[in-house]
Amino acid sequence: MSERTDVVIIGAGFAGLSAARALRRAGRAAIVLEARDRVGGRVYTSQAPGGPWVDLGGQWAGPTQDHLLALLAEQGARTFPTWTTGDNLVLVDGKARRYRGTIPRLGVASLLDVGQAQWRLERMARQVPLDAPWTARHAERWDATTLGAWLARNLRTTVARDLLTAGLESVFAAELGQMSLLHALFYIHSGRDLDTLFGTTDGAQATRVDGGMQGVAERLASGLDVRLGCAVRRVEHGAAVTVHHDRGAVTADRAIIAIPPHLIAAIDFTPRLPPERAALIAQTPMGAVIKCTAIYDRPFWRDAGLSGLSLSDRGPIHVAFDNSPPDGSCGVLMGFAEADAARRLGALDEAGRRAAALTCFVRAYGGAAATPRAYTDHVWEHDPWSGGCYGAFCPPNTWTTVGRVIRTPVGRLHWAGTETATHWSGYIDGAISSGLRAAAEV
Ligand SMILES: Cc1cc2nc3c(=O)[nH]c(=O)nc-3n(C[C@H](O)[C@H](O)[C@H](O)COP(=O)(O)OP(=O)(O)OC[C@H]3O[C@@H](n4cnc5c(N)ncnc54)[C@H](O)[C@@H]3O)c2cc1C
Repeated sequence: MSERTDVVIIGAGFAGLSAARALRRAGRAAIVLEARDRVGGRVYTSQAPGGPWVDLGGQWAGPTQDHLLALLAEQGARTFPTWTTGDNLVLVDGKARRYRGTIPRLGVASLLDVGQAQWRLERMARQVPLDAPWTARHAERWDATTLGAWLARNLRTTVARDLLTAGLESVFAAELGQMSLLHALFYIHSGRDLDTLFGTTDGAQATRVDGGMQGVAERLASGLDVRLGCAVRRVEHGAAVTVHHDRGAVTADRAIIAIPPHLIAAIDFTPRLPPERAALIAQTPMGAVIKCTAIYDRPFWRDAGLSGLSLSDRGPIHVAFDNSPPDGSCGVLMGFAEADAARRLGALDEAGRRAAALTCFVRAYGGAAATPRAYTDHVWEHDPWSGGCYGAFCPPNTWTTVGRVIRTPVGRLHWAGTETATHWSGYIDGAISSGLRAAAEV
């Protein structure tokens, strides 16, 4: 079937849906083509076997994420704060120590080491212009090295290096030794600063949505012309744009492409994309993350005065949270396996992933963590319509060579998706603002 519309949008994640809604409000017709049988993309709420709803993808909102907060308010979404009551845990060499607030109990030398590294990273990050990272005064130098190399040079104690690496990997979900330092600084500035990115109360992990974040995407999609099961394979562009998908074709005046960069590379463009745009797409791999989720009859760790938040130098789970529903009717521990740890874990079957995750939970919360009533996860790297998560990142020498075309339209093709955002790039908020920006361009 061949159809005609004003704007065709590829991808029904928060970016594509936000673009479609803005266009509808401006009186333009838009068709959204989505490969999956659901909307939401990297936001995915699932029903755990015999358990409650669980967010296996994006779930949190936090201060300064103004686009997401406005959307939640507009929808009247029921939100609740992430559980933080009680002591947090830091595990070093398998030994657990309790702490309150944001600063783990480490030796003085390690604490000072972490503190000065964080201070220096934030000072450098503030020098990176969010709309043009390649114009930063030291852009070439910072883009020629990796965040991992910088940490190796600038941290003196092993404990500090291991824990800061674990914390940063949980922010980036990527190997720090593969990520451009300039990209890391851009990302830190884009999410305000490291305290905000790491933070629960007052940070990026502050607020959850009752029932899960995917419901927000579903409400956003209602009333829009979204076609599920329509994977786009080919795009012809020139005097108009014709997008060929699994169930037909749509011809439009303009197209908004709101999918992760490496999936753009899988689409056949006629004529081909300009070399700089093609290189940018080819040079931005995805990170890797698995949210390992164990469901218990009760949040038993709360009885021991623990918040459920833990940070460990040993994997595969380095960071864990209390992800229970707001009424505490059952207990949910959620731990992140990131980067190479996620790739190794993802190579196991579900029983193997469960066993590895529970070993980490037992290390932090004791024997009661060994017998959840259910376990669930999602291997984003194996999901063909994400191919990794949280998002794409720039290896060295990408921002300064081809980064400048990140938002530049190619004829009638416009680019959205969280990776193209200036603020909260990599987050739901960035996805929404990118969709609004692309809709305004159109
Ligand atoms: C485990 C995990 C935890 C996260 N935690 C958070 C968090 O707590 N807070 C936060 O703000 N962010 C979080 N994120 C990141 C956040 O989910 C993403 O930044 C955001 O959802 C990206 O939205 P998007 O619209 O840019 O892209 P996507 O959500 O990836 O949407 C793109 C859509 O395009 C579709 N698609 C792809 N290729 C094609 C094709 N060829 N044809 C048609 N359709 C196609 C996909 O199926 C998808 O639906 C997390 C992500 C993950 C995976």
